[in-house]
Amino acid sequence: MWRISELIKGYKEKRFSFKEIWDEIRKEIRRKENLNAFITLNEQERVPENALPIAIKDNIITRGIRTTAASHLLENYVPPYDSTVVKRLKSKGFFVIGKTNLDEFAMGSTGENSAFGPTRNPHDGSLVPGGSSSGSGAVVGAGIVPAALGSDTGGSIRLPSAYCNIWGFKPSYGRVSRFGLIAFASSLDVIGPMASSPEDITFIMSIISGKDPKDATSLDMEPVSISRVKELKKRERWRITVLDNLLDNCDPKIVNKFEDFIRFIKGKGVEIRHAKMNYVEFALSAYYIIASSEASSNLARYDGVRYGVRKTGESLNETYKNTRELFGKEVKRRIALGTFALSYGYYDKFYIKALKARRLIKEEMERLLRETDFIVVPTSPSLPPKLGSGFSPIDYYKLDELTVPFSLAGLPVMNVPLGDYTGVQVAGRYGRDEEVLAFCELIGEIM
Ligand code: GLN
Repeated sequence: MWRISELIKGYKEKRFSFKEIWDEIRKEIRRKENLNAFITLNEQERVPENALPIAIKDNIITRGIRTTAASHLLENYVPPYDSTVVKRLKSKGFFVIGKTNLDEFAMGSTGENSAFGPTRNPHDGSLVPGGSSSGSGAVVGAGIVPAALGSDTGGSIRLPSAYCNIWGFKPSYGRVSRFGLIAFASSLDVIGPMASSPEDITFIMSIISGKDPKDATSLDMEPVSISRVKELKKRERWRITVLDNLLDNCDPKIVNKFEDFIRFIKGKGVEIRHAKMNYVEFALSAYYIIASSEASSNLARYDGVRYGVRKTGESLNETYKNTRELFGKEVKRRIALGTFALSYGYYDKFYIKALKARRLIKEEMERLLRETDFIVVPTSPSLPPKLGSGFSPIDYYKLDELTVPFSLAGLPVMNVPLGDYTGVQVAGRYGRDEEVLAFCELIGEIM
């Protein structure tokens, strides 16, 4: 598949039309149907000229195209409006080719929690593609489309990017508007691009980032500027810090790949430091308490009255009950866990404790980043599991061990693909997304 930059060039030189590209994409989609990467395809007959194709995770609202969050509860929901990111992409000539599969309401790490069936890894169909942005990872990894949007609450862009061998960027919290993102955990949710090159990531960020009056938590900052990223690339000296204690629980194959990468960039003149991160052992528990608590509140709106599917009962309460039975097992588990953590008597013990741990982790990250440009650690502690491995919920949660600390701190993080289902995270200071993009473009050039 071509990169977005190559498509733009090809259109300019009139070497092909979007109609030809679209036919090619549809052929590829059919050929690779067994990936189960799409939930809905854009069936629109008339396609715009010189459009740039993009796939969108199906928890991001698209006007006139069904948006399900991979849940039976929303399987008939066709939104009357566009999310801010989709609106901005369309205004710059992008065409939404389809909506990609995910773990229901973005809750999961393998893509297997979808009401529409699991997605397969594009490089080995017996493996999971990673989640929750499973379909977006698979379509880009399979070369069906140059780029896709995903969402990342605790790692959902980065993990599938590592497993599918592509670039995936979780922006700083608030840098991209969440208006029209189906909420999972509002204090953590971020939308970001997944693509086959870091330049395409920067390009998409330049379009989707920037203040949005429709999202009160969106940062009052200018959109990412491509020329600023180019400017930053001229910097001579880059310093990174490796968090040695985060390698302790990693598969030896991942440690090897990671160390090769560090040696390689050291050879190119990057200054490497080593440090130990405190409190990291609390990250996973704090994340799952906070994310589930917020989810239990956000998902209260699916009552069969306002959105999506309704399963009518004898009374209003029974209608609620019947409808909400449509949630999948993992979603129910999170609602139960979150409701428990927020309930009288447990609130201080769990929710408040988790918020305190989050603050410590955030401060610790800030401390580490005062003396370095980036923190660098592997994206996943282990290689992608086989489809249907049937681990315990906790073992699935552990796949997020290395991604959630950055989510709790809201930092901008790129997954740099290293091949063989592995990746490395490059995390920068809060709000300095351009620095991460610049450094990763440089890495992309030398790799
Ligand atoms: N795997 C994590 C979870 O299940 C993260 C999901 C996400 O980032 N959306 O909560």
